[in-house]
Amino acid sequence: MSSPRHRLAEASVVAREGIAERLSRMIQLPTVSAERETRGIAPFDAFVDLLAELYPLVHEHLERERHTDVGLLFRWRGSSASDPIVLMAHYDVVPVDESDAWTHPPFEGRIQDGWVFGRGALDDKGPLVVILDAVENLLSAGFMPSRDVYLSFGGDEEVFGGAARATSSALRDRGIVPWLVLDEGGAVVDAPLPFVKSPAAMVGVGEKGVLTVRLTARGDGGHASAPPTLTAVGRISRAVGRLSPATFRPRTPQAVSRMLRLFADRSSGAPRALYRVLAAAPPLTARVFAVLGGEPAALVRTTVAATMQSGGTAANVLPSQASATLNLRIALGQTVASTVRRVTRRIGDARVHVEVIEGDEPSPESPTDNAQFALLTEAVSVSHPDAATVPYVMMAATDSRHFHRFAPAVYRFAPLEMSAAQRASIHGVDERVEIAALERGELFHRALLLRLQ
Ligand SMILES: [Zn+2]
Repeated sequence: MSSPRHRLAEASVVAREGIAERLSRMIQLPTVSAERETRGIAPFDAFVDLLAELYPLVHEHLERERHTDVGLLFRWRGSSASDPIVLMAHYDVVPVDESDAWTHPPFEGRIQDGWVFGRGALDDKGPLVVILDAVENLLSAGFMPSRDVYLSFGGDEEVFGGAARATSSALRDRGIVPWLVLDEGGAVVDAPLPFVKSPAAMVGVGEKGVLTVRLTARGDGGHASAPPTLTAVGRISRAVGRLSPATFRPRTPQAVSRMLRLFADRSSGAPRALYRVLAAAPPLTARVFAVLGGEPAALVRTTVAATMQSGGTAANVLPSQASATLNLRIALGQTVASTVRRVTRRIGDARVHVEVIEGDEPSPESPTDNAQFALLTEAVSVSHPDAATVPYVMMAATDSRHFHRFAPAVYRFAPLEMSAAQRASIHGVDERVEIAALERGELFHRALLLRLQ
């Protein structure tokens, strides 16, 4: 509950003007991690200098470390020795497709009609600016957090680089297990599900794993006029065909049941009854979502997609070899090893060789019945009073997965409103954020830090 002391503190900390200008300055530095070879490290170094210029109090009061050449770690000492919290964001961005026509140049940082435009506005410089603004504002009011607060900013998230891994290992080596980790992921969305009438702050409590597998079959070669029953190409096709969506059993993560329960409270009529029934019966949810396919199915089961296939050299020659590449997204609770075993069993052909190209385990699932989730919910109720705080499971990977290997309470949420069109602009065209949304995002972090115990 929001005590009078908190309300007073929120009112007495005056947010500075100019959050849009600060974000614009950040956008103007093309920190494109995938183009570091060609653009060099200069934009990244300039970004670090810019932070020092824009946030003098942060740089005066917080201790600073680097992990790898692009991992920035700030430590704000709190008044107790309780386990710290970690607020995360990344300052690298994805490239801009030259053939895309942007309304404003992607690295101009145009501010117009109450919006800030440009690559990184939402992913992830907007979420970064709201963290730093909140800390700077609290410092200017003389505030000290009740426990240590770390700010961890990676410069290679979009290329699966090592900065966040190095930072999280450094903390773990010091015996630090964060009480709470908060990184990008969900956002404040308008219509989270059909028939749900209020906005929702979607908080990712876990992320699926990723697995790339290559299937290979060898043949004897020879002329195609007298073929065997199954050529190498035929064998691989059959293997791929056996991997139907039903290869993996659906199972409802706890977060999804809780999500449905919260949505039931915020809808009416038949949808309300439906969400209630599903929330109370996880096995039924699993079956229904699996039948729906697409995103609902991806929420409840490991998915498999054949993404590449090759084999053979000529139209009239038996192929000596054929292969296919599978991309799998591993459901929470499964492992790389169990997934590979299941794929191998389902194919049921000893002459198809199954090889793991790359595997990243799914994260654990963070609880939603703890003090950490309650704190997030309370901060949302300050910054976005209309929004319900709702857990879900993410399909995409974030830097926070490195912390999730040893920290139990890791959440993925950026406190910014994002419409469906805006979400599509992430990694796409005309990425933009509303200035009012940045202001509410800053308030979210301020409310969270003020309520830390
Ligand atoms: Zn991102």
